[in-house]
Amino acid sequence: MSNSTPEFIPFTRPSFNQETIDAVSEVLRSGWVTSGPKLAEFESTLSKYFGDRPVRCFANGTATMKIALQVAGIGAGDEVITTPISWVATSNVILSVGAKPVFVDIDPITRNIDLNKVSAAITPKTRAIMPVYLAGLPVNMDQLYTLAKEHKLRVIEDAAQAFGSQWKGKKIGSFGDLVSFSFQANKNLTTIEGGCLVLNNTDEAKLAEKFRLQGLTRQGMDGMDVDVLGGKDNLTDVNAAIGLEQLKQLPTYQARRTALARRYFEVMRRELKAAGLEDLKLELPAENFTDSNWHMFQVVLPLAQLNADRAQIMTDLKELGIGTGVHYPAITGFTLYKNQGYKPTDTPIAERIGRSILTLPLFPAMSDEDVDRITKGFVGILQKHRKN
Ligand SMILES: *Cc1c(COP(=O)(O)O)cnc(C)c1O
Repeated sequence: MSNSTPEFIPFTRPSFNQETIDAVSEVLRSGWVTSGPKLAEFESTLSKYFGDRPVRCFANGTATMKIALQVAGIGAGDEVITTPISWVATSNVILSVGAKPVFVDIDPITRNIDLNKVSAAITPKTRAIMPVYLAGLPVNMDQLYTLAKEHKLRVIEDAAQAFGSQWKGKKIGSFGDLVSFSFQANKNLTTIEGGCLVLNNTDEAKLAEKFRLQGLTRQGMDGMDVDVLGGKDNLTDVNAAIGLEQLKQLPTYQARRTALARRYFEVMRRELKAAGLEDLKLELPAENFTDSNWHMFQVVLPLAQLNADRAQIMTDLKELGIGTGVHYPAITGFTLYKNQGYKPTDTPIAERIGRSILTLPLFPAMSDEDVDRITKGFVGILQKHRKN
């Protein structure tokens, strides 16, 4: 037996090939490094990818979502229905445009907003629904858009984690209302930091361009005007060049993620059985191999059956050289939100899952043996902490 420590496996890691490094060098040498020809090429490539819908890129996913809300005209006095289980950016942008997030509980299987509970949360002030596709698994898109049409609501899809995900064979982003993606380093397609918004028409795209650069429009050679308050949220050509290369690699990444997820299910079930832990209420992700892009592989820990908390499980895994993450605690438990009267107990399923969810490593450069090692280590830890 070898006593060398195995290599640490982080919960995620981006992959960059030589072509990407070369593409970045080319931009740096070109003399034009901020938004320019590479951004235009990236936006038109993305537009083709999304079935010729207009696409505009931004400095990050957060700016993308905020601008989506601004394009939809959402602001003070408006309510936006969303999920408490997301990266806090989702509801922060709602607050930042002066609107009010209304949290609806999640479905315990998909861990996404429970669309069956949305109607009950609609008031005369409701202007939009902002669903999140956690780990890249979309909601029922037919139900979402039927609901939106029935109640005349805008939909701002927080598809930050869902680049490459599908619904009934159609890419997320290729249909629907405003669809926002993030290209942050952990996402399936990264530009280091960045994001893109898929819009309905050129008027919306022009408005989004204004919001991303100080509200500016140019006329002729020297004319300028500012008629709305915009920010500084443009994506640079360096980032766009990375995105163009990542897009070429996406099918390979996607196939690898799917294969690794399949292996997790297989090895997890086998190991749980071998350890006599079949009665453990460990919740695996929804086993969806048609729609999900497998952005993450998340389990919900059976804390009631364990004499350890999540932090202890994470510590034990770390000692085995296995990195994990928490995506996410319920937003309503954060001080900023509690101070505004929100309570995690208002959405009890989200509260429980936010407290018990754990992200295991999943990224394209992982090997099959990594999945085996992680799963065996994880099941061993569950066995050790199992209550008698
Ligand atoms: C990553 C992410 C965002 C924000 O994207 P940034 O690019 O980090 O600003 C928003 N929502 C969700 C669900 C995300 O995962």
